[in-house]
Amino acid sequence: MIPFNRPTFASNETAYLLHALEQGVSSTGEKFSLRCRRWLSNECGAEHVHLVQSATVGLELAALICDLGPGDEVILPSFTFVGCANSVALRGATPVFADIEPEALNLDPAAVEAAITARTRAILAVHYGGVPCDMNALRAIADRHGLFLIEDAAQALLSRYHGRAAGSLGDIGVFSFHHTKNVTCGEGGAIIVNAPRLADRAEILHQHGTDLASFQRQQVDRYTWLDLGSSYVPSEITAAVLLAQLEQAHQVTLQRQAIWDKYQIAFADIESSGRARRPMTPLNVTHNGHIYYLLAETQDTRDALIRDLRTQGITAAFHYVPLHNSPGGLRYGRAHGTLQVTESMASRIVRLPIWPGMASDQDRIITAVTDALIYQS
Ligand SMILES: *Cc1c(COP(=O)(O)O)cnc(C)c1O
Repeated sequence: MIPFNRPTFASNETAYLLHALEQGVSSTGEKFSLRCRRWLSNECGAEHVHLVQSATVGLELAALICDLGPGDEVILPSFTFVGCANSVALRGATPVFADIEPEALNLDPAAVEAAITARTRAILAVHYGGVPCDMNALRAIADRHGLFLIEDAAQALLSRYHGRAAGSLGDIGVFSFHHTKNVTCGEGGAIIVNAPRLADRAEILHQHGTDLASFQRQQVDRYTWLDLGSSYVPSEITAAVLLAQLEQAHQVTLQRQAIWDKYQIAFADIESSGRARRPMTPLNVTHNGHIYYLLAETQDTRDALIRDLRTQGITAAFHYVPLHNSPGGLRYGRAHGTLQVTESMASRIVRLPIWPGMASDQDRIITAVTDALIYQS
């Protein structure tokens, strides 16, 4: 069976891991964490970078930094990971689901604008498949209405928008290093606080609501509880693996982009035949090859394709089951409008395996998809 996803290991994970274990996991040197933060800081051109234990808790921390609470509303896509909506609902605030646009399957700025009410406090933009949202349009809307702009860049490490790094574009950006992402330490993430006015408090909330960071910089002689917070900080064991992964991130991204491009060229005929649509990359955007997908004509042809591929030993997948009409979405959130694009895309999308080193497996997949969509229908 050709797997859907396979993490790429670098050469330095074990060496760094041994080093972290030897220096003592409770060491205050925080060597690997600091190096990971510096790497992210350089790549993203961002000053305030903190490691977290997952993008999910990173989003929860973002909601805390924005001081979301009961009565507040946050506009986000329904076509996204459940953790986005939970981060809002856990604060007692209301996730308001807006439709996506059909080109990159990202939040539609017009739908966001239409969903704004007097209670709206933030926009949560998700860069689907590592393709950045129309951040200039979302920034303009956020500024016009005095809203926070949070970026879920979980899938978008090393993606760029008008030359700027994803994750550095909103007031706060969040990355994931989950085992399904381009760069992974099993479970892990990072939060980037771009808005200077949020940076001091973010540092406190990130450390259990204490001024531990100031204490470690020897700016105060003891640290104390000041605000809300929780255990967000990953261990040096995690950071050791993450650093090795980050150091190979550019190489992995190039390999994924090459696989993505090969699919894109191979499926041109399928698109001209009308049997499926390929992904579109907006102008002034570079993606990181995180996801390759096709959009079948109908849910039936999509489901048939997934079944057909499975009989040939190829794992293809679909996601997301839209959040707005899920039991949790109905209970904790509300939809703005009919979300027709969301429903259409979610019912027709099929994601294909993509991982560095897939080599001849990719040729098998291309042949199988082409046969299924063009010759057998
Ligand atoms: C993976 C993912 C997350 C969650 O990341 P974790 O690190 O697994 O918590 C959040 N949002 C999106 C869009 C994701 O793809």
